[in-house]
Amino acid sequence: MKKFLCLFMFFVFFSNTIAFAELVYYNTKTKKFHALGCPYAKTCSANCIKIEKKDAIKLGGVPCKTCEGK
Ligand SMILES: [Zn+2]
Repeated sequence: MKKFLCLFMFFVFFSNTIAFAELVYYNTKTKKFHALGCPYAKTCSANCIKIEKKDAIKLGGVPCKTCEGK
């Protein structure tokens, strides 16, 4: 049962990743954007907004060197 739950959670997570593939965390202060799974995105809270990657680029955002905004 636990295995099934893990599989289910994985599926939910994975399907979300696909559905929001274009979403990034955009730092409004440094103008850098991060992939949702980037360790730097997790440390960024006050100035970070979750937006579409194309909007981040439009706002002058540059991809983070660690995750390259993937
Ligand atoms: Zn990053």
